[in-house]
Amino acid sequence: MNEPNPNPRTLIQVIPSVPTSDGAGVQLRRSIGSQRGLYLDPFLMLDEFYSDNPDDYLAGFPAHPHRGFETVTYMLDGHMRHEDHLGNRGDLGPGGVQWMTAAHGIIHSEMPQQTQGRMRGFQLWINLPAREKMKPAGYRDIPAGEIPQAGLPGSGTVKLIAGTLTVDGRSLSGPINGGEPRLSTDPLYADLHLPPGAEFATALAPGYNAFLYAYEGGAAVGPAGAEKPLPHRAAGVLSDGGAVRVVAGAQGARLLLLAARPIREPVVQYGPFVMNTREEIEQAVADYRDGRLAAAG
Ligand code: MN
Repeated sequence: MNEPNPNPRTLIQVIPSVPTSDGAGVQLRRSIGSQRGLYLDPFLMLDEFYSDNPDDYLAGFPAHPHRGFETVTYMLDGHMRHEDHLGNRGDLGPGGVQWMTAAHGIIHSEMPQQTQGRMRGFQLWINLPAREKMKPAGYRDIPAGEIPQAGLPGSGTVKLIAGTLTVDGRSLSGPINGGEPRLSTDPLYADLHLPPGAEFATALAPGYNAFLYAYEGGAAVGPAGAEKPLPHRAAGVLSDGGAVRVVAGAQGARLLLLAARPIREPVVQYGPFVMNTREEIEQAVADYRDGRLAAAG
């Protein structure tokens, strides 16, 4: 397809994913957030978990806290049950999303509900601005059936989890799509499935930070004739501009496309707490220790 988008963004940085583990030993690959300071404001972290070996995921993520940001879990294969201190519980199945706004504080567990088979998906952390870091916690479970999917001109499909996207003149709106105060970062979260050689282009809000993550295959990114390669299992940070253009490689590609309005505030992270100052981190640690983290949640 060829959309009349001026100024497609170029690929300015490739962040390979590196193997790591989290929770009680769950094996995963981390790109954004894999090194200190390797954020893409407001995106703090992107983890891909993908394994056919239950030993890699069975231990799950027993009860743990978060404060100061949002976590977005997108399952491709497998089942995960979450429970939090507010009494929320839900089963996250294939194609489903949990959008959790930790804000003031949440204590929850995320545990696999399978003893065999493939567990595959992503967890994305999106920062909150200072004025929203201490608001009450909340969450939404979004089953696969509530996530719109559209065919792309020519071939391929797009699923839209958050934000709006114009594809071939049609506007698509994701289930997470709101303004102040809940989503002041105005995130776009799309999942692109492109057959070999297929081209995808769409407008992106200028000034928003954006990246792609190729979780199957690889792709070329940028203006026609000036594409740069985005390898398999790497995050590709995009320059500023009004559009994005991707061409799938010879094996086709599945990619996440993420964009959001930057917050432009200091980021101080200590494990599952992300605040603006060291004092606020010390407060979060003390609040967790003393049972106050989730008190106002
Ligand atoms: Mn968590």
